[in-house]
Amino acid sequence: MNCKKCDSPKTVILRKKDYYCDNCFMLNTNHKFRACLGKNKVLTPNENVMIGLSGGVGSTVLLDLVHHAISLENTKKLRITPFFIHLYDDDCRCLAESLIKQCEKYDFDVYVVHLAVYMNSNYELPQANTLQDFSENERQVFKDMMNSMPPSAANDFLLKIKRNLLVEFAKKLSCSVIFTAETTNTLAVNLLSNLAIGRGSQVQYDIGFCDNRDDKVKIIRPIKDISNEELNHYISIKQLTPVNDSHIKSNSLQSVISLFVSELQENFQATISTVCKTADKIGDQKESNTHEKCLICESDLDVKSMKLSAFEATNVSRMVSLEKNQSNPPFEKTSDIVHRLENNNNTSVFPLINKYLCYGCSRNHSEINVHKLPNQLQKALSAE
Ligand SMILES: [Zn+2]
Ligand SMILES: [Zn+2]
Repeated sequence: MNCKKCDSPKTVILRKKDYYCDNCFMLNTNHKFRACLGKNKVLTPNENVMIGLSGGVGSTVLLDLVHHAISLENTKKLRITPFFIHLYDDDCRCLAESLIKQCEKYDFDVYVVHLAVYMNSNYELPQANTLQDFSENERQVFKDMMNSMPPSAANDFLLKIKRNLLVEFAKKLSCSVIFTAETTNTLAVNLLSNLAIGRGSQVQYDIGFCDNRDDKVKIIRPIKDISNEELNHYISIKQLTPVNDSHIKSNSLQSVISLFVSELQENFQATISTVCKTADKIGDQKESNTHEKCLICESDLDVKSMKLSAFEATNVSRMVSLEKNQSNPPFEKTSDIVHRLENNNNTSVFPLINKYLCYGCSRNHSEINVHKLPNQLQKALSAE
């Protein structure tokens, strides 16, 4: 069998049926990346773009794709000014060092930021290509906060912290666009986790092409149409070395879902692509507007427009069980329940919900030792 594009001998087989030579495969993958950006028209010429690197497979390919695209000399040159950033914590110092070397090969500078900056909201840019110097105490405060919550909540909260830091540093660097390199596998896991923990209404932001929750900075996922199979071929053809594997906390909802998805994918090749395509169809993404936003994840707190939210489900079951205890007659109509719900926010299990926090963040909040949260956040959450 020969390459389906140029008829030279095949070297790459995709989805067990499509044959390519290295050359056509690389052209095709580069095209997918550019088509994704072109189709969605988010970039203006010479835009400052911040690129978040984790060092993983997706990140390694994105780095190479960007380097290739901005090095072109023809009309296809990608006209952006890239700034690279890597977020790390004490458990992955070696990884951060490897990542600096990875960027060095391309002659790119990278800002390496310790996650603990979240605690004091000090978003000063560190010196490029060096690990940020942090006192033992500051690191410990961050660790204590993360350790004060159960693994599933910690995984979820960490994603929100990283998103928050990326947005803040993008503002520092005058970037209105951020590229992140989630692979379809990561996105499939995030989608199912989101649904399971009551972030269904945020699926489009967390899994779709563009997260525009922030007024000034858009987060874009330009390689979300490139499958893991393709990423792995890309890595081996260009002999790249990823420096990191995903580190979801074990014994958590996310680790179970991750195992479930990857085992299913083994036998049913369409699993992940089906899950990701479904994400595109769920939820209605609105342009960011003036509504109140969650103080942790910036999602809209516009509850009236959500007809069937996890929050309401929790409240319904709570009200019904309370009613039973008081031996009152059961609800007769759904409209009764809706009416009661609308007037019943005060008795909610989550006192801060809809005022400061979305449902997902309220759940996390109820499982965190709140005194360990960053001072500024504590203050904002207790303001009247
Ligand atoms: Zn070919
Ligand atoms: Zn939230």
